Amino acid sequence: MTQIFNFSAGPAVLPKEVLQQAADEMLNWHGSGMSVMEMSHRGPEFISIYEEAVRDLRELLNVPANYKILFLQGGGLAQNAIIPLNMLGNTTQPATIDFVHTGSWSGKSIKEAARYARVNVAASNEAGAFTFVPPQESWKLTPGAAYLHICTNETIDGVEFNFVPEIAPETPIVADMSSHILSRQIDVSRYGVIFAGAQKNIGPAGVTLAIVREDLIGKALPICPSAFDWKLVADADSMYNTPPTYGIYIAGLVFAWLKRQGGVAAMEQRNIAKSELLYAALDADDFYQNRVAKDSRSRMNIPFYLRDESMNEKFLAGARARGLLQLKGHKSVGGMRASIYNAMPIEGVQSLVDYLNEFAGR
Ligand code: PMP
Repeated sequence: MTQIFNFSAGPAVLPKEVLQQAADEMLNWHGSGMSVMEMSHRGPEFISIYEEAVRDLRELLNVPANYKILFLQGGGLAQNAIIPLNMLGNTTQPATIDFVHTGSWSGKSIKEAARYARVNVAASNEAGAFTFVPPQESWKLTPGAAYLHICTNETIDGVEFNFVPEIAPETPIVADMSSHILSRQIDVSRYGVIFAGAQKNIGPAGVTLAIVREDLIGKALPICPSAFDWKLVADADSMYNTPPTYGIYIAGLVFAWLKRQGGVAAMEQRNIAKSELLYAALDADDFYQNRVAKDSRSRMNIPFYLRDESMNEKFLAGARARGLLQLKGHKSVGGMRASIYNAMPIEGVQSLVDYLNEFAGR
């Protein structure tokens, strides 16, 4: 059978080893006689799974002791409401939230936040068709803003921050890292809140990770739903209500896999190598085009266009025939997109590069 490489933006490829382990443990987890899906979230078996997952994630990302790791539900989009609902309780009203608009996902965050606060778009590259991160010197930040929200990797536009903003220390930075968390080393202490939907670099859809600095917890607006109130969730170790247990279990297997790979530093080196390989093939001549400025190019999500777009369907059919799946670009931007998350092996990228070269007649 042709080897399959899955370039989906999410839900996305998971490590084969993890899927195999989950299959082996499906009917009887560690001799418990139960599937993880069947376990009480308050029983000793699941508590041990949960505690190990939190411990491993803390180690992988060097999460400082004054940060809580929360497993929530609702995906990345719900965070756009959950965050203002949790952060605006102690601010003088009307509060202002600063945003940097770098693409589709920060755009959605801006729209949602505007339901709860005044929104200031401190910088936008919309006029530049979302092809770069506006340099920080150009940002017009609000003194006393409740927080600054950025999307550090725009999954659709393929734009990634290569710096951490330097802003007034009293303004927390909220970062949507959904599509590149665990792909590169980060200094968690520079952020107030980091969040990520799981379905790219963590595990199956349904788990949303939030890493929240403790002093930001306990400031929810009275209308914040209890199940999303960081204080209630943190005090209950993410078990205020039933958490997405199976998703947390798979996330834990992915974290253990990452540790075996050498952790985030080793992953980052591989991700640099993988993305350089692919960009080099796209840049070789003008048969393909990636429009993102070189210093803002994502290592995870690489959109590209064929010079002759009438060949799109032929390109995709040929790719599928070689086992290169889900390369069609997001419907809002068209073209192609290769998502090359942690679990995509370099062999998959090499196989795509070989196909790109062959299709271009090189
Ligand atoms: N933020 C980013 C950067 C994303 O890529 C996505 C999903 N692709 C979301 C937010 C929304 O996540 P969800 O679909 O889990 O709500």
